[in-house]
Amino acid sequence: MERGTFQLMKSVNKSVVLNKIRLAEPISRAQIAKETGITPPTVSTIVKELINENLVEESILGESKGGRKPTMLLLKRNGHHVIGIDAGSNKIKGISTDLVGNILTATETPIQPHISKADFLMELKKVIWRIYQGIEVKESILGIGVAMHGVVDIASGVSLYSSNSGLRDVPIKEELEKEFGLLVMVENNSRAMALGEYWFGEHDVSECFVTINIGRGVGSGIIENGRLTYGAQDIAGEIGHMVMDLNGKICSCGNKGCFETFVTGDAIVQRAKEQIKAAPDDLTAEAIYARAKEGKTDYVKVLEDTGRLIGLGIVNLIHMINPDEIFLGGGVLNSEEFLMPVIRHTIHERALTEKARNGTVIEVSKLGDEATILGAAALLLAELF
Ligand SMILES: [Zn+2]
Repeated sequence: MERGTFQLMKSVNKSVVLNKIRLAEPISRAQIAKETGITPPTVSTIVKELINENLVEESILGESKGGRKPTMLLLKRNGHHVIGIDAGSNKIKGISTDLVGNILTATETPIQPHISKADFLMELKKVIWRIYQGIEVKESILGIGVAMHGVVDIASGVSLYSSNSGLRDVPIKEELEKEFGLLVMVENNSRAMALGEYWFGEHDVSECFVTINIGRGVGSGIIENGRLTYGAQDIAGEIGHMVMDLNGKICSCGNKGCFETFVTGDAIVQRAKEQIKAAPDDLTAEAIYARAKEGKTDYVKVLEDTGRLIGLGIVNLIHMINPDEIFLGGGVLNSEEFLMPVIRHTIHERALTEKARNGTVIEVSKLGDEATILGAAALLLAELF
């Protein structure tokens, strides 16, 4: 453990106790002491503080091992609230959650293509006001977490650039902190999705955890040892712009042959039109899936080809960072029954070692669309815990 001042040690212990309760509740003071190695008197002092701060409550009696039944501790679900926002390129969604990620209220509003910076901020504030007004005790709000599409500067909370909406240099954190007087944290939507899946999804203990979002664009979030990875200039995980064909199609970023140009919903539609002569002009990714489900083999092939390409992208990712778990999400994964067998097969065929071939867990997120917005809420929770 790191050496520090008494005050720091105390807060490190506090965080350890709070996380122990979060992960193992209901749990007794004695169990916390036993499992964390913190002395029983210190655990008692910390628990008292946590109860005073409305973070923890005493509850149902636990199993007695002879003698008096111990009092069990739980997170106080309704003691604090968080506002989570998923600002996509076509709609803004908002939720309020309790301390364990239960969604209490939800709202959403569509946003127009090529929206101006001022209008975007206005719509964002409107969504947050609606959620804010639904929370009875305003003092219980820990803050606002925003998952924003495109590239985000984390420290300043500025949305730097989005190829989908065309927005540039939007000072989200500054504007919202001024409006609501609350702590605001802004994160790229793919990283927020990783955080949401990591906090609230069903997964094993993971040293290197990755989520990949494949929809209108492609992004990923990497969590190593419990923390999001950013890289030197905040673009770690931008696998949508990993080059897969030197002479490929022009990507929204201006480069050629990026991973995105092969596997987004639009890319799949384009491939279907190239491969299937009878494909209608107004074909959509949903229609391709529907036709594949009807057993139309040419549409099944389009999805299987897509699965192979997604698999190749994931093989590159495995070779770069070697994660133990990868969760996939986004609209394209609605066709998982056709994609996943081919994705897994491609990884099995190409990953460098037998351990990586057989040991890398690849699943579709069960949280689905909610992973991103829960991750936005978790930005604040990660500060607390
Ligand atoms: Zn690109």
